[in-house]
Amino acid sequence: MLTDYHVHLRPDDVDETPAERYLTAANADRYRTVASERGIEELGVAEHVYRFTQALDVWQHELWRHSARDDLDEYCSFVREQTDLKLGIEADFIPGREDRMAELLAERDFDYVVGSIHFVGDLALDYDLYDIWGAGQPPDRVWRTYFEWLAEAAASGMFDILAHPDIVKYWGPAQRPWPDRDPRYYYEIAMEGIAESGIAVELSTAGLHKPVAELYPAPAFLEMVVDAGNPIALSSDAHRPDELGRDYERALEVLDDLGVTELAVFERRERRLEPIG
Ligand SMILES: [Zn+2]
Ligand SMILES: [Zn+2]
Repeated sequence: MLTDYHVHLRPDDVDETPAERYLTAANADRYRTVASERGIEELGVAEHVYRFTQALDVWQHELWRHSARDDLDEYCSFVREQTDLKLGIEADFIPGREDRMAELLAERDFDYVVGSIHFVGDLALDYDLYDIWGAGQPPDRVWRTYFEWLAEAAASGMFDILAHPDIVKYWGPAQRPWPDRDPRYYYEIAMEGIAESGIAVELSTAGLHKPVAELYPAPAFLEMVVDAGNPIALSSDAHRPDELGRDYERALEVLDDLGVTELAVFERRERRLEPIG
């Protein structure tokens, strides 16, 4: 079986992607059709939590206030009633707001929750509008904080899948400041929390299409995850149908090299493992 769980039904540009145009049965069908062509049986959607008004009870960042336009319960009913897709959500880990986010998630019957870190404090790792890089923090500190938070996100128990686990590298060393240490030093910071939590860790092909042009996570990080025994969740982070399952051959090669033969599959937040293929 192949999965694609970290999937968005629309691009991130909120002004151009209203729910009435994108959260529709016809759009979901377009995704299902491409997934079938590419041999992806297990397909789920995971819209960004901050596109829903309920997210403002959790955090009031300017991007969230600008983006929170849709109703979360309408999204859930739409996916359940008008599509055959699994119901997921991409929820941010916001330290200090765990209780509020946990409450928002627990009140709905998701199949899985994808946990992400896009912001460290009020500044973004992967978005130039709120760029953390060049804002005065040394890259070593940003990386260290990011991986500490990743451990906390795993340990929080709020998430089923840890998304794009080393997204801190998004811009790559040519475009932004980069720490001097071996990246494994930072991976180690996160590994204890990840290992103890048993959380599924995402292998995402989206990183190949970002400035860094690498899989998320780097193979050395993935190897630590596999050695720790955490299951792997395979996704593309598609924002358009033609991005589904993008570059899976690269991801499957890496998994094969590491001896991974099964992928995590979710239903109503229960996890099982299915053979790859
Ligand atoms: Zn994300
Ligand atoms: Zn995403």
